[in-house]
Amino acid sequence: MFELSESPLQKAILVQIYFPEKKGSFFSVNRFLEFKDLAVSSGAKISYEDQGKQKRPTAGLFISKGRAQRIKDLVQEFDSDLVIFNHDLSPSQERNLESLLQTRVLDRTGLILDIFASRAKSHVGKLQVELAQLSHLSTKLIRGWSHLERQKGGIGLRGPGETQLETDRRLINQRIKNIKNKLKKSHKQRAINRYSRNKGNQTLVALVGYTNAGKTTLFNRLTNNDQYIANKPFTTLDSITRRNAISGLDGILFSDTVGFISDLPTHLVESFKATLDELKYADLLIHVIDISDPDYHFKINQVSKVLEKLRISHIKQIKVHNKCDKTEIKDFKDLSSSTKGEVWISAQNNIGIEELKKAINYYSEKIRKEVWIKIDTSLGNVRSKLYSLGRVIEERTTDSGLIQLHLEIGEKELNNLLSIKGIQLDNSIIKEAI
Ligand code: GDP
Ligand code: MG
Repeated sequence: MFELSESPLQKAILVQIYFPEKKGSFFSVNRFLEFKDLAVSSGAKISYEDQGKQKRPTAGLFISKGRAQRIKDLVQEFDSDLVIFNHDLSPSQERNLESLLQTRVLDRTGLILDIFASRAKSHVGKLQVELAQLSHLSTKLIRGWSHLERQKGGIGLRGPGETQLETDRRLINQRIKNIKNKLKKSHKQRAINRYSRNKGNQTLVALVGYTNAGKTTLFNRLTNNDQYIANKPFTTLDSITRRNAISGLDGILFSDTVGFISDLPTHLVESFKATLDELKYADLLIHVIDISDPDYHFKINQVSKVLEKLRISHIKQIKVHNKCDKTEIKDFKDLSSSTKGEVWISAQNNIGIEELKKAINYYSEKIRKEVWIKIDTSLGNVRSKLYSLGRVIEERTTDSGLIQLHLEIGEKELNNLLSIKGIQLDNSIIKEAI
């Protein structure tokens, strides 16, 4: 087995602090385990785990001087290459810590970006990660510069330092521009693909959820696919959309995408915007939850926050409680309610999928609305198709011989129908009903 990351394992010290005064800060064993998972995924060998409590972060070092000094001793004792914080540090905090500890310091955003970089496989995926890394780097350079200027009074210390910084910044900005252009081209292609898909009148169901919840496992079940699954965060970076492969679900496309995590770095969200924007076109979301995870409540909230950030929280959602096999819950299939959009499954063991199917059908049908259309008598084939699909609620004939149909139909299907010559919306009957 080869490691994903090319560099040899880095000996790392992990730091996580609990700040009782900070909103949303809490002690959680699982939060630390997730942090450890992230660190190990990025190729770290953990030499020491430092968890502590502090009133609030300090401006200069983030942690207290005493703790920083202790970590410095630990760095020497274990000959560590790296100290990783499960928090976001300001550029100056990161620099101050590096100069005190005499070793590299990585914050949570840096860590997540590093994992994304090692996971990206497709051309577009790699570009998106590079864009996020460069944007992250450029904010550090800019702030780093003003910080130096202030501290050292600027004058006298300029010269080679300034030129180097400015060159770096210019090169980074050029590269950012270049990547953005390349991404723009590939997004155009995506838009074209989306257009042809819409014409095909399919319902798009997107799987969303916290990383490692089992989205890809479920996606593979639903589409009979063999996407790579691993018990590691962020195995899936590129979105993939495929037709459903289960009988009884017609015209449904499923889409699997990158998982979410708490405090998802802003630069990542922005860089992956195009990939995540695909979610905007979903008719229905399947929110996959790892119910065996003691922190699942917290993670549901985190996912909801990201959905809000992406402005897609209004899309109908089915909550899929996955990994029931790992819990004490017996007969979990019976807990499912297709009408409430709550389903309990084990994607890995293929249990509860039938109930999920019912929920998907129920919800995609609910997306239909009622309309009246006028249809030319020459379009008898379209009329009988609508009957055979069960879309017709009522039929009337006008004095002038036009057929009026009362339909229950999905948005996309209706738009396709209205693009046929000889078919129009008929608002007269709606008025009559009012
Ligand atoms: P994703 O990050 O949400 O796409 O998650 P994956 O589908 O890659 O799965 C993450 C891990 O959870 C893998 O080790 C899967 O084998 C495991 N997993 C997925 N579904 C289940 C399940 O129903 N039960 C159990 N016990 N494990 C599961
Ligand atoms: Mg996945």
